[in-house]
Amino acid sequence: MELKELQHLILANEVKAVDLKYCGLDGKWYHITFPARNIAEVMEIGIPFDGSSIPGMRSVESGDMVLMPDSKTAHLESFYETPTLRMICSICDAETRLGVKKDPRSVALRAHNYLLSTGIADMSTWIPELEFHLFDSVQYCSDSFSAGYNITSSECKEALPDENEDPGSLSLQGVKGYHIDTPFDQFYEIRQKIVELIEEQDIKVRYHHHEVGISAQEEIETELLAFPKICDDVMIMKDIIRKTALQYGLTATFMPKPVFGHAGNGMHFHIMLHKNGKNLFYKKGGYADLSEEAIWFIGGILIHGRALVAFTNPSTNSFKRLLPGFEAPVKLFYGLANRSAAIRIPKYANTPETKRFEFRTGDGTCNPYLAMSAILLAGLDGIKKQIDPAKYNLGPFDDNVFAWSEDKKAQLLSIPTDLKEAMQALKEDHQFLLEGDVFNEELIESHIELKLKENEAVSARPHPHEMLLYYNL
Ligand code: GLU
Ligand code: MG
Ligand code: MG
Repeated sequence: MELKELQHLILANEVKAVDLKYCGLDGKWYHITFPARNIAEVMEIGIPFDGSSIPGMRSVESGDMVLMPDSKTAHLESFYETPTLRMICSICDAETRLGVKKDPRSVALRAHNYLLSTGIADMSTWIPELEFHLFDSVQYCSDSFSAGYNITSSECKEALPDENEDPGSLSLQGVKGYHIDTPFDQFYEIRQKIVELIEEQDIKVRYHHHEVGISAQEEIETELLAFPKICDDVMIMKDIIRKTALQYGLTATFMPKPVFGHAGNGMHFHIMLHKNGKNLFYKKGGYADLSEEAIWFIGGILIHGRALVAFTNPSTNSFKRLLPGFEAPVKLFYGLANRSAAIRIPKYANTPETKRFEFRTGDGTCNPYLAMSAILLAGLDGIKKQIDPAKYNLGPFDDNVFAWSEDKKAQLLSIPTDLKEAMQALKEDHQFLLEGDVFNEELIESHIELKLKENEAVSARPHPHEMLLYYNL
C-alpha cells in the first residue's frame, strides 16, 4: 500500500491513532501507538525502540533497532474505541533498515526468499488449525501451594478430574465433545463472532466447531493461506480470539494441556508447495498419491522433527499434551489418515489441487514465524537431500502404532518428552536452519536460553500434585 493510500484510509475512517505491532522471540505481540498525523514520517524512518527490554532480543544490535511498519498489513483495528489503523512491523537495523537477525518476522521473510532461491517452489500455502479453550477466568497462583491453578468456569471446575478418579467416569455429558450442537456448544455465538472479525481482516475461514475436549474446547480452521503472510495471520487470529473472549467475560487459552486428563490444544499445519501454479505434492500412483517431493519434504520434517519441536512446541506445558490417547503424536512417522502420526495424509484431500499433508505435532504456544519457517526449512532440506522416510523407519504406517509390541514401538523415533530434551535436540541439529541465513546461531542460542529458563522456573516450583503424592510420606 502506498503512503497515499494509507493517508486516504486514515482520512476516510477518521483514524486518530496508528498502532504498530511486532513479535518478540517469545511469540507475543508488543505494540506502540502514534498519532495518525505522523504517518508519513514513520513510514519513512520507522520508530526507534529499546530492544533490550524485549525478552530474548538483547544483543549487540539491540541499541539501534527501529520498527519498520509493513504497509501491506495496514488494517483498521476492530477493538479500540478510537478509530485506529494497525500495522505489523519488522524489527530492523536503524541504519540499514533490514530485518535484524533475531526478528521472528524477518526470519519468515528470509525463509520465503530462501524457498524462492532454491527454485524448488515459488509458493507455499498452509492451513493453520487453531484449537483453544474458553474459560470464565483462570487465576494463576503458581507460587502458593493452595491453588496451583484454578479454573473458575463452573463447568470446568466440575470437570476437573479428581486425581484418583478416571476422567471418563465424571459426569460430563453435554459439556464436551467433537461437533456437539447448541445449546451444549455453549459458546457458538462467540466463535461465530470471532470468525466474522477474522474474515473482516481478509483471512478466510473454512469452518469452526466445538472440539473433542472439555467445554469449551474450540477449533477454527482457515482456508489455505500463503506463507509468509500466514504468520501475521496467525498472530491476528490469536489476538481476535483473546480480545473477543474478554468482551464476553471469558478468557481464551492456547495452552497445549490446560486440563489434565482431557484433550489438549494443538496447532496443526496443513502444508503445500506450488510451482508455476501447480501443486508439487500430487502424483497419481505413489503412496497416498504423494509425489516424490512430498515424501522427501515429509522425510526432512520427520528426520529433523526432534529439533523442530524446540520451535513448534516451545513450552513446558507442550509436552503434557504429547501423550498417547488424545489424538496427539508421540512418535515421528507419517501415515494415511493416521491421527497418532506426527504427519497425517488426509484422505479427503486427494486431487491435484488439494493434495497435502498435516503436521500434527505443533501447538499454539509456538512463535508462528519461527515454527513455520523451521518446518519449511526442514522440508526443503528433505527435498534437497532426497530423504526417504522409509529408510529411517519414519513410515508410512497406517495402523495404530500404540497397539504395536513394545519392541517395535521402541524402534520408532520419539518426540522429545520435555522442553529440556527438545532444546538439546535443537543444539545438536540446527544446520538446516542456517541455510540462506534464515536462522542464525544468536537467535537459536537466545531461544534455547529463554526456554531453559522457563523450564527451570517450572521445575523448581513445588507442584500441587507433589503435595498429593508426598505430603504424608
Ligand atoms: N486436540 C488434538 C491435539 O491435541 C487434535 C484433535 C484433532 O485431530 O483435531 O492435537
Ligand atoms: Mg482439531
Ligand atoms: Mg487437524
